[in-house]
Amino acid sequence: MSNTRDLQPLLDALVTCAALVGPNGRILTTNRAWHEAEEHPLAGPEIGPNEDYLRVLSGVKGTLQSDAMRVASALQQVIDGESSALTHTYRHGAPRVQWTRTSLCPIDGSSRRVVVLHEDVTAQIKAQNALKRSQARLRTILTGAPIVLFSIDHDGIFTVVEGMGGAGTGFVTEDQVGTSVFEAYRHMPDLLDVVRDALGGRVGVLTQSVGPMAFEIRCSPIYRSDDVVGVVGVATDVTERLRAQRMKDEFVSIVSHELRTPLTSIRGSLGLLEGGIAGQLPPKAADLVRIARSNTDRLIRLINDILDLDKMQAGKVTLKRTVLDPRELVDEVVTHMRGYAEQASVRVEVALRPSEPIYGDHDRLIQVLTNLLSNAIKFSPEDEAVVVRVAPHHRRVRFSIADRGPGIAQADIPKLFKKFHQLDASDARARGGSGLGLVIAKTLVEAHGGQIGVDSELGHGSTFYFEIATARPRVTIGSTNQSGTYDPAVAIDPSGIQDPRKRGPSEMLTQLTQLLRTAASSADLDALADAQATARILESALSAQGSSGAQRRVAELAQTLDEALRRRDPLDAARWESLQRELAGLGELLEG
Ligand code: ADP
Repeated sequence: MSNTRDLQPLLDALVTCAALVGPNGRILTTNRAWHEAEEHPLAGPEIGPNEDYLRVLSGVKGTLQSDAMRVASALQQVIDGESSALTHTYRHGAPRVQWTRTSLCPIDGSSRRVVVLHEDVTAQIKAQNALKRSQARLRTILTGAPIVLFSIDHDGIFTVVEGMGGAGTGFVTEDQVGTSVFEAYRHMPDLLDVVRDALGGRVGVLTQSVGPMAFEIRCSPIYRSDDVVGVVGVATDVTERLRAQRMKDEFVSIVSHELRTPLTSIRGSLGLLEGGIAGQLPPKAADLVRIARSNTDRLIRLINDILDLDKMQAGKVTLKRTVLDPRELVDEVVTHMRGYAEQASVRVEVALRPSEPIYGDHDRLIQVLTNLLSNAIKFSPEDEAVVVRVAPHHRRVRFSIADRGPGIAQADIPKLFKKFHQLDASDARARGGSGLGLVIAKTLVEAHGGQIGVDSELGHGSTFYFEIATARPRVTIGSTNQSGTYDPAVAIDPSGIQDPRKRGPSEMLTQLTQLLRTAASSADLDALADAQATARILESALSAQGSSGAQRRVAELAQTLDEALRRRDPLDAARWESLQRELAGLGELLEG
């Protein structure tokens, strides 16, 4: 059994106020911290050895009375051996609030001595309170705001879900913590793609409809050192925003429709007047009519653009894709724009590098090229050249149109592809335009799975470019789905991982036959387009092998399919029969 003197160095080593109290409740000794305590209601130099601590505690008045009574009765119980220990935390002091945690620790043995510790826990309690307050605040924000915050570990398991944004839809809810996103959202493949992207280190954003609601989901990778260890995501309820946007778009569309008819009639009448139907106009009147007619033309163009964009954004434009030669597209646009370029005294130069065919909608790509080329001519100084280039670019074909016009400031570039955006209103007015051309171009290029952009510097001209995937027939054998019908989603492998060119010509021929059978049996133009693409690739494979006989026959076949596609003419039974004979002949040739 240690005596009081032995304990003294130990007690003095404590930074906490400590007193040793004997069986009769009297203080046997106090430590240095206790002696030096200022402003502590239950310790300090005036409460020293021999003081009856039970009486001191019982004598406390004021706000601390009940805490002191509680400590006193616990001390009595510990001394009597009825209770083993106590910790009690309480606040005191004004105006400077302090928190103390009092602990009673009996020392073994029959003397029933108890160490009384008063520990200052003010900083700790303040930090805890601040944390609680900020958690409560965050919870209020999360429950009030239309968002859900979540995190997912690298195996796809939800680790955190906070917020009520999805309440009512069952979309990302707290009870999903511990479950796999890949299981729970199997029916939302786009969402899973974004999660996979984030796990691969890329930030992804997606708008996903969930029942009557729509969420914008943004997923970002969480890194530890250089490794992605999970994903943090925010799902924001954008239902209202999209509804408002739709209403606005509908309004614009209705107004545009209503305007188009009378405008067309005004345009017609002005054209007739200009043409002299009411007799030769005096020069001044003719001038005014010409101005009115040209502005009406501009208005009609604007309205057509609005309606076109509207249709595209409502997903009402389906691309009629075929295999296209990039050079032919460029030639067509350049020929078409020659007059406009001459008028503006601008030369159009063409620099084409051999590139693979692309898979796209002829008319829509012409529309994109026309817009970019007409902008380039419009902004080009007189006697300068605009250069149109085509070059292969990472399994895509890049079209670019460079001018030596005024260029575009870096800060303005992100605004370019937004609706009705003209960088300099006065400039645009002088040059005429709707501010919709680039938005339409972007929508069309993206509908092709491509990308559009611009490199530019103020004063040094601009190069607008877009890229379209090459026509790899993204076809796999077994492209019919379970119900036996042709399913382009199954057949098309946009990643091109199963590149048919890695297979032999006979396999491609089998594939081609299968696609044509589907095209014929279900009058399916998509299957026909894929067959045409396969035929073109087979043709180049045979040419690479030097099998010129087979190559010529496949080229003829591809030509037939090209024409059928251009006429949007599905294969009838008779044509399929003759094609089948041709395919069988080709098969023999290849085997041989
Ligand atoms: P617009 O019909 O007005 O030309 P666009 O969407 O095609 O509409 O272009 C939007 C704006 O982008 C133009 O008004 C102009 O400010 C800027 N822009 C487009 N192409 C060029 C270019 N080649 N050089 C400089 N500015 C350009």
